[in-house]
Amino acid sequence: MEASLNLKLLEMCSKCGACFSICPSCVNIPGYDPREVIKDILDGSHEKWINSKHIWECLECHYCLEMCYQHYGFENAMTAMRTIAAKRGVHPTQVKRGWEMFVKTSRLGEPAIPARKKLGLPEAKGSGAEEFKKLYALLKESREKGRGHGGKTE
Ligand code: SF4
Ligand code: SF4
Repeated sequence: MEASLNLKLLEMCSKCGACFSICPSCVNIPGYDPREVIKDILDGSHEKWINSKHIWECLECHYCLEMCYQHYGFENAMTAMRTIAAKRGVHPTQVKRGWEMFVKTSRLGEPAIPARKKLGLPEAKGSGAEEFKKLYALLKESREKGRGHGGKTE
């Protein structure tokens, strides 16, 4: 956890809270509050967020990052929590489905051919699935090697 987050910056973030009012998820989703997550990370009691749906409600819009005076942002805390959850396999079903589709096709969905024709759009280009598979295999291999050398996984 410490490896993926700058706790010093997070400490400053916990005292600031300024971007709560410009975060679309904070403003519109009851219960979504990165300030609480950050507080728990700093207290070492972040486990309870791993199974929470709220960590998946960050839109990754980067508003908090852009507005932040220390160029850090709420989203780093949410991303760190999602990474742990995903590694433990406790992500929402649609995320898992989306990932499997992406690994297989390098797309998150198939292009809607009739709709493209209707809108006069050109044929969709190839997705680069073969290149992605090669890169993904290399990434997995280097991760395995990293683990073999005592690298951290969380
Ligand atoms: S990226 Fe930041 S501003 Fe956007 S939803 Fe996530 S926490 Fe909120
Ligand atoms: S992300 Fe930046 S602006 Fe937002 S609460 Fe943290 S320190 Fe403040």
